[in-house]
Amino acid sequence: MDMSETILTKNTFKQSGFSRKKYRGSCHCGKVVFTVDALIDKIVSCNCSICSKKGALHHRVNPSQFDLVSGEEDLVLYQFDTKEAKHYFCRNCGIHSFSYPRAAPDMVSINVRCLENFSLEREGVQVISFDGRNWEKSLAKLNEELGSNK
Ligand SMILES: [Zn+2]
Repeated sequence: MDMSETILTKNTFKQSGFSRKKYRGSCHCGKVVFTVDALIDKIVSCNCSICSKKGALHHRVNPSQFDLVSGEEDLVLYQFDTKEAKHYFCRNCGIHSFSYPRAAPDMVSINVRCLENFSLEREGVQVISFDGRNWEKSLAKLNEELGSNK
């Protein structure tokens, strides 16, 4: 890579307006608090039975990017169907702030609606629609669209 190419890459990155930063998230009552260090340029809207009712919007990160600050004792695990995904909600306020999704059980899926310093409109992220009602058929396409973000 020569110098002009390097500069171009840097500028393109800057223009997109996305950078990795630390976000703070919480449930409604504030018992569950977490931080996530991530570049959130893509989020997933899923139409499966639980995501559509929760209204959650997802962004997956590696566990090393996620830190549960407080509220571990207030988290309740909810599982259904194949019981592969781990859906957590706050026992006090009922808000779902993160899960370990069936599509990537080794990763943490943040509900970006719970992030305090993140605004969908302002950040202009790409919203990927995942047809979770046809999970088996749609998974490969989702992983392709998420690309390096997984
Ligand atoms: Zn709560």
